[in-house]
Amino acid sequence: MAVTVGIPRALLYYQYYPAWEAFFRTLGAEIVLSAETSKSILNQGVRLAVEEACLPVKLFLGHVADLRDKGVDMLFIPRIVSVEAKKYFCPKFLGLPEIVRCCVSGLPEILSPEINIAKKPVRTRVEICRLAARFDRRPWVIDRALAAANEAHAAYKKLLQSGCTPQEALDGGRQACREGKIRVAVLGHVYNVNDNYFNCNLLAKLREMEVEIVTVEMLPAEAFACGGKWLEKESFWSFGHELLGAGCFLLQEKSVQGLILVAAFGCGPDSLICELLARYYKRSSSIPVLLLTLDEHSGEAGLVTRLEAFIDMLRRREAV
Ligand code: SF4
Repeated sequence: MAVTVGIPRALLYYQYYPAWEAFFRTLGAEIVLSAETSKSILNQGVRLAVEEACLPVKLFLGHVADLRDKGVDMLFIPRIVSVEAKKYFCPKFLGLPEIVRCCVSGLPEILSPEINIAKKPVRTRVEICRLAARFDRRPWVIDRALAAANEAHAAYKKLLQSGCTPQEALDGGRQACREGKIRVAVLGHVYNVNDNYFNCNLLAKLREMEVEIVTVEMLPAEAFACGGKWLEKESFWSFGHELLGAGCFLLQEKSVQGLILVAAFGCGPDSLICELLARYYKRSSSIPVLLLTLDEHSGEAGLVTRLEAFIDMLRRREAV
């Protein structure tokens, strides 16, 4: 019987799942995903985490507990430090395997290769090959697994950049209607903008209001080039760099009528980056900005009221 590898449907799942799936499947492993986020997964995560953890990490712990209860043989929780030069993930990603070990009991083995492209590209490849060799030692199979992962990631990115949300891309690229009378940027970390339970179905609600949305993932990599060049010092956080770059790009393009910033409660980088971006928009344009900070008590009714008021205001401005 194939070894089962559990992948939590949280954090960077939204960014890398197709690559991870192709990698493990080529090596002969069976992938088990945690269930979609629900109240019980969220409550479980909140119970397991320390108070100071940000909400996405609490949610991640809930997904890990779900996989433990499903009885998987191994868990895949990579230590992601950096995926590009001079840009780093926040410390929670660096310590994610340890956070999980400390907070959740009764876990199976955790596979946690270190991904550090900025400082240790060779060692990163060695770690990934070592991990692959746990499943199949034949070099050509390992090479095939790496190639399959790269291919799947490139195809996934192409779908996202064609306007799909991660869920639509994972469903094979079937897109909901993209046309809208108003175009709004919804900027936030990929896991905040795309976990429908966590954000009370934000994207679907906007589409119901006939709003065309653009997210960070839909933009080409060149869009982030201006990053935080307008700041005295550029952000070295990967997500921060993307958010600042996307905001700056859309402002220069003059292609959106409003900006919605989605932040998670307890996120240190977000508290700074979102504030900087909101101030930049205020200073350089008349584009309205709505900041949504999500926490475990975020209610759908409150969110809908704020969204409706924001979109109504954008419509009135367009009508003038
Ligand atoms: S970037 Fe923010 S939300 Fe994401 S894991 Fe780090 S602290 Fe949490």
